[in-house]
Amino acid sequence: MYDNLTMPEPDALHGVMAKFAADTRRDKIDLGVGVYRELDGRSPIMESVRLASGRLAQTEQTKSYLPLQGHPGFISGMQRLIGEPSSFDRTAKIQTVGGTGGIRLALELAKLSNPDLCVHIGTPTWPNHIAISQSLGLDVNLFEYFDRASQSPQPECVKAAIAAAKTGDVMIFHGPCHNPTGADLCVRDYWDLLQSAEAKGVVPLIDAAYYGLGNSLEDDLERLKMTIDGFSTGFVILSCSKAFGLYRERTGILFAVTPSSKTAPVAQAHLEMIGRKMYSMAPAHGASIVSEILSDNQLRSSWIFELERMRKRVAHARCELAKFSQGMEQLECVPMQKGIFSLLPIDASQVDRMAKSHAIYMPSSGRINVAGLKSGDARRFCDALVETLMPA
Ligand code: PLP
Repeated sequence: MYDNLTMPEPDALHGVMAKFAADTRRDKIDLGVGVYRELDGRSPIMESVRLASGRLAQTEQTKSYLPLQGHPGFISGMQRLIGEPSSFDRTAKIQTVGGTGGIRLALELAKLSNPDLCVHIGTPTWPNHIAISQSLGLDVNLFEYFDRASQSPQPECVKAAIAAAKTGDVMIFHGPCHNPTGADLCVRDYWDLLQSAEAKGVVPLIDAAYYGLGNSLEDDLERLKMTIDGFSTGFVILSCSKAFGLYRERTGILFAVTPSSKTAPVAQAHLEMIGRKMYSMAPAHGASIVSEILSDNQLRSSWIFELERMRKRVAHARCELAKFSQGMEQLECVPMQKGIFSLLPIDASQVDRMAKSHAIYMPSSGRINVAGLKSGDARRFCDALVETLMPA
């Protein structure tokens, strides 16, 4: 069997991680991996998560299977979190294996209904959007979402892609905090585009992996709630990896909005069967923790407080970059962008020089995780960037 297989392309980000780990310089900086970090470089367990986990260790009664839909307390907790949109009676809900699993399930369901659909994806994007769509054998249409020079989203390009799409196609939209650019559509453009998609019969898939790290938890969730209410057909996926720091617990949820309360059970049954054939059901531990947090007022308040602190820490790191930017226009927009990522207009050879000469690591795309900047790193990063972009 293995005679027919060659080595696949290695994952680019894991290559950066390996090079960073092998670098012995003490002042090395990792801006590659997409996890939230504190000023000392740790990606910590949130206190609310630790407390919920401790409680579960005492109170959990069984490790028996969950229902195919997932952990009931998690699903109702996430439903409450997003504010119980009025369309929930026509929405299928399923716990997913992280946000990634939610995207896979949503596209599997869309494909089941329409095997010829095309997935429209604005670039640059999280590479897995393209990889998952292609691994399902779906056609992919890439269009420009972001202009690197002006560091701004291009709503007119999204609009043109919607106009050119066929009814039944899927278009991927990012929830708050675009990965990799941090450049979100303004609410008006976002809303107008979703309405254009709805009018054209293009199914929007909203991938929300960074809610709570954008404007505020309330604002970020309001945008998602409004989205769920606004569709007749669409997908909204919330990952719990970043907002709850549950990366390795693989916790997320998919809301599949359908036209009526008659179509919702059909979508529900299919989603459960698709999951059943792939992995039976999503894992319980992360979902139990989220359920515990969201059902206890004190834990919930402390989680919201911690998430807000994380958001402020990231916003502060963005301001630091602007403060030490020495007039570099590459960094001017960074404070206005949201979430943990920005995409610097630098090329792969400059990225390489940042690593070789300054021990500063990022993927060759020039995406930086601003939360990777530890205390005092912003100045050093800016100095290194100036030296790299404008060598004497
Ligand atoms: N969507 C985007 C845009 C992401 O950046 C990520 C993770 O980096 C995900 C989805 C998937 O998150 P999860 O770890 O929950 O699968």
